[in-house]
Amino acid sequence: MEKILFDSHAHISDEAFEDEKDAFIEEIRASQLKYCMDIGSSVKTSMDCIESARKYDFCYAAVGVHPSEVEGLTESVLDGCLESYITEPKVVAVGEIGLDYHYDDGPSREEQIYWFERQIKWAVDHDAPIAIHSREADEDTMACLKRCGAFSKKRAAAFPKKPSGGDDCRVLLHCFSGSAELARQYVKLGATISLAGPVTFKNARKAVEVAEAVDMDDLLIETDSPYMAPVPMRGKVNKPVYVEYVARKIAEIKGISYEEAARKSLANACRFYGIED
Ligand SMILES: [Zn+2]
Repeated sequence: MEKILFDSHAHISDEAFEDEKDAFIEEIRASQLKYCMDIGSSVKTSMDCIESARKYDFCYAAVGVHPSEVEGLTESVLDGCLESYITEPKVVAVGEIGLDYHYDDGPSREEQIYWFERQIKWAVDHDAPIAIHSREADEDTMACLKRCGAFSKKRAAAFPKKPSGGDDCRVLLHCFSGSAELARQYVKLGATISLAGPVTFKNARKAVEVAEAVDMDDLLIETDSPYMAPVPMRGKVNKPVYVEYVARKIAEIKGISYEEAARKSLANACRFYGIED
């Protein structure tokens, strides 16, 4: 099977896959999936992602603390977690970090912003790619990124330009849920957009508009497994191999072949995460 897919954001260390891990891994090996980014959301899951990256050749890791998980976090524990970006060869990004204003009972906005900015600054200081989670927090997410130098001249100079000639600041808006206009603004600043299962949903106007607005060179695809399975698997536990359905939908929207959409997003993800393909 030719390997032409990269799931740029998944939680393959999630307990949802624990029971049938061998079959789960075998299915990936037998599929068109070449690489899989296992993304941390807490200090504990970040360590699990590192384990996966050590164990599975197709797997890379990102380390970081999600806004819902910042309660009780300390500076030294966070630093210890992020420093694996320096010490572990297959840790290639900081993420997922960001802001989530969906829940009323989670960490306060002030607390979320503090730890988000702390992690952006760390990534900027170490020229590390950043994977962002932003939910119902468009304005603050953009403000934090700008304030902490994620789109600064210095940051842009740290990485080669995009194929389009624009700045590449290695900032990834994962499972992008904003408007097409916001996506355009982000790309102009040097960010990259990632689309997930929702682009395949029947009521997915916004995500489809984003896919239309953003050039294929600035687009990644992902599953965010085990959440948000794409159509026709909607409602099931999501798996990295289902990234194929996201690629098929993007191909349909862009009017290109499935293979082209898959290969292009594979190349984009390798470039973004600095993985030699
Ligand atoms: Zn995620």
